[in-house]
Amino acid sequence: MATAGAKPRRTVLIVLLIVGAVLALFLACAGGVGAIAYYAFKSGGEEATHLVDELFGSIAAGGDATYYQRRTSDGFRQAASPEVFAQLCELVRTRLGKLESSQQESLVMRQNNLDQFLDARFKARFEQGEGRIETVWQRRGGEPWRLHNFVVKSPRLLDAMSSRACPHCGQQAPLDARFCPHCGKAIEAGEAPQTDAVEAVDEADADEAANPK
Ligand SMILES: [Zn+2]
Repeated sequence: MATAGAKPRRTVLIVLLIVGAVLALFLACAGGVGAIAYYAFKSGGEEATHLVDELFGSIAAGGDATYYQRRTSDGFRQAASPEVFAQLCELVRTRLGKLESSQQESLVMRQNNLDQFLDARFKARFEQGEGRIETVWQRRGGEPWRLHNFVVKSPRLLDAMSSRACPHCGQQAPLDARFCPHCGKAIEAGEAPQTDAVEAVDEADADEAANPK
């Protein structure tokens, strides 16, 4: 009687142990994979923050021509000429000033054949206003990350695209204004600001983001 009762109990115990072991193993694996994924995510996030600081540091210091040559991807340089990049940087420099702080909003890492992409978006505070920074970085093999896509969204930049500096007083006047609302002097037509160039970058970026190479 005792042995008959003990046998199924032992079986149950063994089954429980096996299930327990399998569960423990599974948890260990999941925990391990989770930890690795989390580590990659965390280090990617720190890396993206560092990359964005470097980019905006270069812009603020007027070093964007060097940055363009050394730190952008082939795809970026195909989509945006040095002039277009310089104009966009000038706009950020004059309209937003230095990047004071950035807070990461999203981070996505993806692999496409030999290329790794890091899609990082930030909420940003600049010296002269708030905005959003959207970046995509590309890395091939063991090379460093390169800027692949770069969009700055800010009400102050939108203002800049729909207005221009008055040649007499330097204040902002609407694009279609014939007289400056600040000093009242006539504004010559022409000398339109770099609206087209900035939009060209945005379109190129949108294509790149939709169909990364
Ligand atoms: Zn004026």
